[in-house]
Amino acid sequence: MAVPQHRISKTRKRKRRTHFKLTTPGMVICPQCGEYKLSHHVCKKCGTYDGRTVLTVK
Ligand SMILES: [Zn+2]
Repeated sequence: MAVPQHRISKTRKRKRRTHFKLTTPGMVICPQCGEYKLSHHVCKKCGTYDGRTVLTVK
């Protein structure tokens, strides 16, 4: 909201910003290895997708 800077207290500003979260879009935690992976993609770490091993990881 366009309000002069000093009209919003530090607390109010910080409370509003608690809803700002840094999330990498489309990233989910792999259920197999717990690493971050792209959703609907084969996990690069363990090579599984939907509980099945799709790739052989060296
Ligand atoms: Zn994985």
